[in-house]
Amino acid sequence: MLTAEHQRAMRRAGRAAAGTLAVVGAALRPGMSTAAIDQLVREDTARRGGTPSQLGFHGFPAAVCTSRNHVVCHGVPSPTEHLEEGDILNVDVTTCLGGVHGDTSATFFIGAPSPEARHLVDTARRCRDAGIAVVRPGARLGDIGHAIEALARAEGCSVVRLYGGHGIGRAMHEPPSVPHTGRGGDGPVRRAGATFTMEPMINLGGPDVDTLPDGWTVVTRDRRLSAQFEHTVLVTPAGHEILTPPP
Ligand code: MG
Repeated sequence: MLTAEHQRAMRRAGRAAAGTLAVVGAALRPGMSTAAIDQLVREDTARRGGTPSQLGFHGFPAAVCTSRNHVVCHGVPSPTEHLEEGDILNVDVTTCLGGVHGDTSATFFIGAPSPEARHLVDTARRCRDAGIAVVRPGARLGDIGHAIEALARAEGCSVVRLYGGHGIGRAMHEPPSVPHTGRGGDGPVRRAGATFTMEPMINLGGPDVDTLPDGWTVVTRDRRLSAQFEHTVLVTPAGHEILTPPP
């Protein structure tokens, strides 16, 4: 069980990450480089008194992950990658503040999306929220995964299996791993005080992914679009609290 003080710190770190994500979202436009997003995240995170948790994590070379179109996650910002009209872009911000971490991401439209891109992005957001909706003391990880997977399938999409959510607190990644697929009633029980991320990666095509030779960038094997939304969640006695609400 976390102390109340620790939970307050988690709330502050979560709101800082969500604030930075909102600043980035408002700045995105065609022609912008993903390296410019990285710079913006560094500046805005510092302005909030935090540090970017991802920078140097297992050697990650940037302060933020920018994952465009068929990139599933862990896209590395680059000065030679520019946003184009019609792109979808996931920006994944993690902020360390007060010794704890807040982790949140959203997928943004660059200009006007295609109908299938809009459907995918809407489905990804709804899948995250469907997972969060079942979080309460006594909920099992399988209940969460099942809620996400059932909705994705109903919308004709697939769920990436290779990456899941994770516990979060004094470290950015803590046990347990939180699968975004599963069977109701399976898996460990979540108890009040637990903090973890809910971050399903939803694909228009199949669930398989590959890692590019840079060692970071994860793409869909069929190169069809992928979208993701993420919140950091606290299990409360009454249910749950989203620690990364948009400002
Ligand atoms: Mg994240």
